[in-house]
Amino acid sequence: MNAIPFDNSYARLPGSMHVAVAPTPVSAPRLIKVNEPLARELGINPALLTAEVAVGNAIPEGASPLAQAYAGHQFGNFVPQLGDGRAILLGEVVDVTGKRRDIQLKGSGRTPFSRGGDGRAALGPVLREYLVSEAMNALGIPTTRALMAATTGERVYRDAVLPGAVLTRVAASHIRVGTFQFFAVRQDFEALKLLVDHVSGRHYPHLKGAGNPALALLDAVMDAQAALVARWVQVGFIHGVMNTDNCSISGETIDYGPCAFMDAYDPGTVFSSIDTYGRYAYGNQAPIAQWNMARLAETLLAFIDKDREEAIRIATERIEGFPAIYTKYWLAGFRKKLGLVSEEDGDLELIQAMLDSLQMARADFTVTFRSLSNGEAPDALKDWLPAWRARLARDPQTAEERRALMQAANPVYIPRNHLVEETIGAAVERQDYRPFEVMLCVLMTPYVEQAGAERYAAPPAEVDGAYRTFCGT
Ligand code: AMP
Ligand code: MG
Repeated sequence: MNAIPFDNSYARLPGSMHVAVAPTPVSAPRLIKVNEPLARELGINPALLTAEVAVGNAIPEGASPLAQAYAGHQFGNFVPQLGDGRAILLGEVVDVTGKRRDIQLKGSGRTPFSRGGDGRAALGPVLREYLVSEAMNALGIPTTRALMAATTGERVYRDAVLPGAVLTRVAASHIRVGTFQFFAVRQDFEALKLLVDHVSGRHYPHLKGAGNPALALLDAVMDAQAALVARWVQVGFIHGVMNTDNCSISGETIDYGPCAFMDAYDPGTVFSSIDTYGRYAYGNQAPIAQWNMARLAETLLAFIDKDREEAIRIATERIEGFPAIYTKYWLAGFRKKLGLVSEEDGDLELIQAMLDSLQMARADFTVTFRSLSNGEAPDALKDWLPAWRARLARDPQTAEERRALMQAANPVYIPRNHLVEETIGAAVERQDYRPFEVMLCVLMTPYVEQAGAERYAAPPAEVDGAYRTFCGT
């Protein structure tokens, strides 16, 4: 294992889809963290993952660095050209399970897509993405991963002067709804067709031979997004910036900018300082995913049917089917969280009544579900518990089986905001990375109680309604 086994399929696609560009070297790179288990999963010798590689000062053999073109709707407004303004795709590797994965540097300098930006990332957002994306993976939720984090030795200028850093991100691909939009708005049907084929072969190989490849792809992406958002909702995750350029075609969670986990249950919860109207509030994430899927469908119309009216009719019907697909995943997930293996018509109402009780009591989402799993009777649910117990009596599991099912569906540890902030603060203000290491370690086994880790399971002392996250710029 003397070189990273790159095989760069995106670089082989036409030049209209990307621009070759190298990272901009920095003065004093220092490694913060290498994710060795992930390196091994990728078939990469961790010894190759040096500070120089992590910041882009050294380009590993076989890489073909490029910035990808994409467009996107940001908070509902269409921007015809966004693209990798501060990220550079080094290339792809086929991992030990045969899955193709992108390796990308984020914060590695300017590209032709940078517009007014500096192409850089600050240390805080890099650590946030590392912690939260790895926590999501440990929770079993599809996500981009963090392979390395390193500081650059240089400053970045935001509201304050901050230490610069680079994150090495691994993804099934970085192809987004916005990638399709980039070519659709330019009426570049040749590129769109290549993209459909590339994405289908890469993420949805079971679609091979489908009669209508574009429609089959739309169905597959809708299914993946519905499943993903249901998983978010079941751990209290709020993405915060579900723009179409942050909506992955593979169905992974991508772009950990203003994301956060909810403490007290409230579907109106918004954390992002720039989300003034609550477009990306916790409870609005499924309708927004559906909206994003409608934007994807629009880019595919020419391939869905030669007759435009007919294409619109077919696509509309598909998009209208999204809530039913989402509800299927939502129900399946919440049944597990409540320890049910059988299905009954009234389950949706039972679950909703539980969530309403949580909201009334402003009870902590994660703690309450875990308490239920441990056989405790949370006070916030006392009026609801009899209905649940009556339902459990009709479910065919033993108490032990149910407890195991519920404990595997209800985490003890999520990356709570106040702890993420504390951890980032220690690193940024005091160059103390121990809290980061400890928190990361706790979050790696989120479903198992760990002795001494009690503070990572506890909600913040005061319900912090004013908590705000900022875009990871
Ligand atoms: P994001 O908000 O991270 O999804 O980014 C939206 C768009 O802004 C993408 O095209 C990014 O590449 C670009 N962008 C964000 N931050 C920077 C930066 N510091 N320098 C250059 N481009 C940026
Ligand atoms: Mg983005």
